[in-house]
Amino acid sequence: MIPIAMPLMGPPEADAAAAAVLSGWVSQGPQVAAFEREFARMTGAAHACAVSNCTTALHLALLAVGVGPGDEVITVSHSFIAGANAIRQCGATPVFVDIEAGGYNIDPAAIPAAITPRTRAILCVHQIGMPCDMGAIMAIARAHDLRVVEDAACAAGSMIRLEDAWQPIGKPIGDVVCFSFHPRKVISTGEGGMLTTDRPDLDAAFRLWRQHGMSVSDTQRHASNSVIFEAYPVPGFNYRMTDIQAAIGLQQLQRLPRIVQSRRALAARYRRKLADMAGITLPLEPAGMQSNWQSFALRLDPSLDQLALMQHMLQAGVATRRGIMCMHLEEACADIPLPHDLTRSEEARDGTVLLPLFAQMSFDQLDMVVQALANALADQRAPLRAMA
Ligand SMILES: *Cc1c(COP(=O)(O)O)cnc(C)c1O
Repeated sequence: MIPIAMPLMGPPEADAAAAAVLSGWVSQGPQVAAFEREFARMTGAAHACAVSNCTTALHLALLAVGVGPGDEVITVSHSFIAGANAIRQCGATPVFVDIEAGGYNIDPAAIPAAITPRTRAILCVHQIGMPCDMGAIMAIARAHDLRVVEDAACAAGSMIRLEDAWQPIGKPIGDVVCFSFHPRKVISTGEGGMLTTDRPDLDAAFRLWRQHGMSVSDTQRHASNSVIFEAYPVPGFNYRMTDIQAAIGLQQLQRLPRIVQSRRALAARYRRKLADMAGITLPLEPAGMQSNWQSFALRLDPSLDQLALMQHMLQAGVATRRGIMCMHLEEACADIPLPHDLTRSEEARDGTVLLPLFAQMSFDQLDMVVQALANALADQRAPLRAMA
């Protein structure tokens, strides 16, 4: 069986987790601080703050840029539901707009028509690792005085070119960038998240909120020679990452460049092997974007049956996934008004198949996926041929 994804972990991660356990300090402490420093260094962000997952990161990011009850946040429906949940946790309403033609990211051209006097922010998503058009999004945000939160859950190790220079996703273009370290992403800590920002005021808010709004951290109190009483100046949350997770994360960060290199080599091979296959369209990588290929997404011709194709591949030992979900088609979002066209989002969900891709995948495994796909496509054409 070839899985859709697999985290790349081994003895370095296991040893780091064991060392954290044996150190006597397992909650948020020195490993979290070191993980944050290294993440900030690798992305070029001024600040990085670790949290329990990307959903809590999104919640804090939206709160910090001032999203509150009655506000609207423009975002995509075509993404993981955590985006809408985080907006609603702030008491605000998600305003869904469609994705761009041929891709899976927010269509900047759809944003202006969705702006109202209640719009506070844009939550854009670097979907499946592909950076979105930040130049166009920031121009709109500046013109309308909107804050921008980048959902980079899947985009650790992706790159974008701005003003002729390449920079990692995570160096903030908007106000805050949010990452996930769930095992389905490119690097993992089991569960985990990170917020990067260049604004010290936002970073200070994240650090206060993630530990119950408590003025003094456990590590500060532990290290102090004098007795410290903590204060609670604001209501907060418990969104902390543990030192066990951060110790794993530090090892994963060391692997990240090689993981991305390997994923890009595999994606290039998919591209070569699938170039002439009828019935599918390969994913685009626009100029100025470098994806970490968190997922390799094929668009199926409308005549093809997505479910049957996936079932055929599953029987051949190849796991696939359909396109990214559409939040507005889920019951949890049934009460969210839908004033804007979402046709492309629905077509992307129902006409896309994600192929297996993980750093340790061999070229032989990839070639098996290609063969299984070719067989599944041939199987769908066979009945038509029989009828002709
Ligand atoms: C996975 C994902 C999230 C949620 O991340 P968690 O760490 O599981 O909370 C949010 N947004 C996007 C786009 C994702 O892919």
